[in-house]
Amino acid sequence: MKAVESHGSKVEGAVIDWLKVRNDFPALRQQVRGKPLVYLDNAATSQKPQVVIDAVREYYEQHNANIHRGVHWLSEQATIAYEGVRKKVARFINAADPRECVFVRGATEGINLVAQTFGRRKIGKGDEILLSALEHHSNIVPWQLLCEEKGATIRVIPMNDAGELLVDEFAKLLSPRTKLVAVTHVSNALGTITPIKRIASMAKLAGVTVLVDGAQAVPHQPVDVHDIGADFYIFSGHKMCAPTGIGVAWAPLILWDSLPPWQGGGDMISSVSFEKSTWAEVPAKFEAGTPHIEGVVGLGAAIDYLAAIGMDRIAAREKTLLQAFEAAIRRVPGTRLVGTAKEKAGVASFVMEGIHPHDIGTIADQEGVALRTGHHCAQPVMTRLGLAATARASVAFYNTPEEALALESAIRRVSEVFGA
Ligand code: PMP
Repeated sequence: MKAVESHGSKVEGAVIDWLKVRNDFPALRQQVRGKPLVYLDNAATSQKPQVVIDAVREYYEQHNANIHRGVHWLSEQATIAYEGVRKKVARFINAADPRECVFVRGATEGINLVAQTFGRRKIGKGDEILLSALEHHSNIVPWQLLCEEKGATIRVIPMNDAGELLVDEFAKLLSPRTKLVAVTHVSNALGTITPIKRIASMAKLAGVTVLVDGAQAVPHQPVDVHDIGADFYIFSGHKMCAPTGIGVAWAPLILWDSLPPWQGGGDMISSVSFEKSTWAEVPAKFEAGTPHIEGVVGLGAAIDYLAAIGMDRIAAREKTLLQAFEAAIRRVPGTRLVGTAKEKAGVASFVMEGIHPHDIGTIADQEGVALRTGHHCAQPVMTRLGLAATARASVAFYNTPEEALALESAIRRVSEVFGA
């Protein structure tokens, strides 16, 4: 509700006061090393608006109790809040039923959940899993662990030098051995928006199950799981203004129902005896133990907040910002953008001739500019492009065009220091 109050009145109109929106984020008001903080590490995690911080505090001040098990009033309140957020999540991603949305710790846990349930049940010796060249380690390693156990093989959909997936090559890789296609919606290292609908429909035509890693998509554009047509869609809350430690794994009920539980414990059972236990219905079947209740409450507040601004407006704003940041980087002699796909969201990765990205990050930090440097948990992307690392500026809607100029002067400072 508070999100709606903070700028809900503007939603119907065409214009959003982005500086007012920025002011909702207390962390952005800081000075760092004597300079205004320019936070450009949004792909790693977003900052949190006051409404999310307040929702978590209010939860502990007024509603804290364990959920589902208590008959007492407070437990009922906590349960209503927790299950209410499931409905918000479903609406946000256009799921047909809130029960399709399983709360997990984040994208990493969501993918591991699918690997340990769907993967262990449906993937066997000689089978193949198709990943893409753009994947984050979270969408590689769980499948490697599974392949080691089951004797299955990973094959990789290649990309071009711009960081775009080669869909024709994907078509050639699909075979009767393919049991799963697991592809990111948006690359965290390069910002590429993949042709996920096309990939999903080609895989489905071949009868193959599709998992989409939506960690970098849900925070930046409207996502409609129904329209995408995949079987699993996974994302993290902390990259979309919610607290850390909460995320969502979506799949149609019929698919969840067909899978065994993964973690065992309280809340995921229907009955327990030493001889045999039976399982609760989905989603409880996949939510063993006391969940991250305040994380869910915070996620609900974040969804209210983002929805009040409008995800289409956020996407448009970030597109303009990204162009400004890329132009700023290009203006500095000796820089090169890495990742030049036609369809991109939020990420400007770059290198500077003769300068290690860690040095770029360290000098930028002296200017108050927070960049990420390294392989961005996507080492195969770096290997494919013949790089060890890049510097990455990743934007959110609360960044400003002026911050692109701050980045430019920080990079110019890097050049000066290195005499480039
Ligand atoms: N996939 C992508 C594309 C990501 O960017 C990230 C986080 N950097 C993850 C998965 C993993 O998310 P988390 O660390 O929140 O589990």
